[in-house]
Amino acid sequence: MKAARLYGKNDLRVEDVPVPEIGDDEMRVRVRAATVCGTDLRMYANGATGVDEGHPLTLCHEFAGTIDKVGKDVKGYEVGERVSVAPNIGCGVCDACVSGGSHHCEELEAFGIHIDGAFAEFVKIPARAIVNGNVTPLPDGVSFEAGAANEAFACVYNSFERYGVNPGDVVLIIGAGAIGMMHAKLALMAGASKVLLNDLSEDRLRGCKAIDPRIIIVSEGLKEVVDRETNGRGADVVITACSVPAVQEAAFDYAGLNGRVNFFGGLPSGKDAKLDTNQIHYKQLQVSGTTRSSHEHYRKTLDFISKGLVDIDPLVTDRYSLEDVQKAFDSAAAQQGLKQAVVFD
Ligand SMILES: [Zn+2]
Ligand SMILES: [Zn+2]
Repeated sequence: MKAARLYGKNDLRVEDVPVPEIGDDEMRVRVRAATVCGTDLRMYANGATGVDEGHPLTLCHEFAGTIDKVGKDVKGYEVGERVSVAPNIGCGVCDACVSGGSHHCEELEAFGIHIDGAFAEFVKIPARAIVNGNVTPLPDGVSFEAGAANEAFACVYNSFERYGVNPGDVVLIIGAGAIGMMHAKLALMAGASKVLLNDLSEDRLRGCKAIDPRIIIVSEGLKEVVDRETNGRGADVVITACSVPAVQEAAFDYAGLNGRVNFFGGLPSGKDAKLDTNQIHYKQLQVSGTTRSSHEHYRKTLDFISKGLVDIDPLVTDRYSLEDVQKAFDSAAAQQGLKQAVVFD
């Protein structure tokens, strides 16, 4: 089979590798859609721990497909079944895992990060992933692409649970990528009266507005627009959906009294932000951060998609064959389109 393997910094090779063999307690998934995430871009640009010429790693942790083979000791899954696979595999027994936080497990292994992922025709699903519930049936009517992009959506929902959106809230999202749009979609679903989306790129903003006309796009004069749209009160929720220190530093300026500020995007290592904590104090702000997502988040967001509450299909804007995975990476790095998918016939 073909697989796109990382060998080191800026070194991703599409090559022939054996189809993975499975044991009696494992299964194999035929990948139908695999989406590119910021994590893939970071691993490509910086290299990854343990990955070198002698130890390549197949990237991609966002994927959906059909079950191709099931080990004889595996219960509850059938060949041909459509599935979406949550990437974070916990040990299943530590405190984090038993409280539903396998994404924070000390022994965490993730597809495409620690073990071979889904920029490949087939992926082996280890026993630990099966018994811990990583393999989720893909509901009828949910596309493979949505099933893949659901990983990012689940991470956004993890964050949404922290900041919360009440009916009538004004929500400001800074960063008009797929992640920013997922926050916007959830906020609208939850009854936000206004969703403001800010980015420097007019192109990206126009693309987002075309996908959902309810969104108010802002490229300049953000503070003035926030003041105008909130009658000077400030936004109820501010989300930084990008990795820019200056954006984090300015975030409190846009929040109103009792506002919630969420730092969704982490900063590149070595970067820091200087925060005006008096704004937290005097405006009684709640500041939160989240990372990754639990299996519960993963299943909840798949459920939102399948019930038609949120449509994330339009966020997958570009499709590539596995042979062209490099183009998908280049397009994502250049911030063209929202979400790039590698698709298989
Ligand atoms: Zn991801
Ligand atoms: Zn654990």
